[in-house]
Amino acid sequence: MEQLVINADRVEDRIDRLALIGKISETGVCRLALSREDRLAVDVVRGWMEEAGLVTRIDAFGNLIGRLEGEIAHAPAIMLGSHIDTQPYAGRFDGIIGVIGAIEVVQSMVEQGIKPAVSLEVASFVDEEGCRWNKGLFGVRGLLGKLEDGELERTDKNGVTRRQALLDFGGDPEGFATSIYPPGKISAFLEMHIEQGPILESLNRQLGIVTGISGPLWWTVDYYGFAGHAGSVPMTMRRDALVGAAKVISGLNEISAREAENGSPTVGTVGSLKVFPDSRNIIPEHVQFTVDLRDIDLHLRNRLEGELRQLIEDTAREHGLRYEIREDTNSEPRYCAPEIMAMIREAAGELELDAPELMSGPFHDSLSMSYYCDYAMIFVRCKDGISHNPAEYSSKEDIAAGTELLYRTVQKLLRRQTEKATQNIAAKETSA
Ligand SMILES: [Zn+2]
Repeated sequence: MEQLVINADRVEDRIDRLALIGKISETGVCRLALSREDRLAVDVVRGWMEEAGLVTRIDAFGNLIGRLEGEIAHAPAIMLGSHIDTQPYAGRFDGIIGVIGAIEVVQSMVEQGIKPAVSLEVASFVDEEGCRWNKGLFGVRGLLGKLEDGELERTDKNGVTRRQALLDFGGDPEGFATSIYPPGKISAFLEMHIEQGPILESLNRQLGIVTGISGPLWWTVDYYGFAGHAGSVPMTMRRDALVGAAKVISGLNEISAREAENGSPTVGTVGSLKVFPDSRNIIPEHVQFTVDLRDIDLHLRNRLEGELRQLIEDTAREHGLRYEIREDTNSEPRYCAPEIMAMIREAAGELELDAPELMSGPFHDSLSMSYYCDYAMIFVRCKDGISHNPAEYSSKEDIAAGTELLYRTVQKLLRRQTEKATQNIAAKETSA
């Protein structure tokens, strides 16, 4: 790879230093959203932002946002970022490389003497993980005016409301309205993140270009049969709800595996099962199980959904069961902007990096941003696909390559957005 513009040692050093805040075990981190550790980390990251030349603020939601003012006033800004809060038993990289990498991009630009024509913002979004109050993407949804009723009254497992934690953190629950971004303030969002899966490693590639974030379809399914004595009811007379569920679990696995063999990133999972009355010598009368089905191609996912419904129906008929399907979540896949993906591809080519395309199964801050502006993501390889675990690991070289790719992509995006802003000004002058 060519000489790097970004400073790989500085990126590594900051990752190591941030990992000390909320450190657990040798390599783990526990830095829950809006905790004391989270606040300490925000102050440290804020210092780095200012060192990079960004003007910083913590908004009413608790988001840390840094801004490098562009020369064209009022042109939409380009935003980079991710999150620094973690799961209770987490590693040092999830979200963190996206924030530190974004700061590095700006700091390198300033050191190169580059003054952008359109403004750049770096966001460290508060509470992406959602583990403390069981609802994620709080900061980014707040920024975009997408919070739901009652979110401040949710309590964590110690009975602390989000409102109280936010007040202690230095946020301002009464001032949310002043922190919401109006439409058009940001033109594009870029996020670098660890893959949290094993695909790049299996392909022996450092980086990947994300095609989109697959939306999950979540169901709760109930099968109702009839209980009876396991020793006396003949097999031909049984209505065994668990046998029905077993066929569906196995069927979902076959359907998803078949598509995966055809090259799709389809994944299907039954992760929870409840059996009633749950006794070894009673035929199961009621079984409840969950379905999680994901694919980046919504047409395909819809077709598989149809197939699964048919399987549930056929199985019910075969075993004399009644069934109910409750849809808990039906999120559509959100595709990355082809124009920005092309810029990432071009930048990767310049760096002689072969960056394959892949979809994201997990969601990220980008998912919320996708409803507001164009977005794109760069994935960095992580060891054995392990994440949300102290064993999470991405190498210094891979993170440096990702940060360099982010840097080069930002330069291309800046050129494009500057052209657009200049055209807008010209058009306004003509019409005036
Ligand atoms: Zn993350």
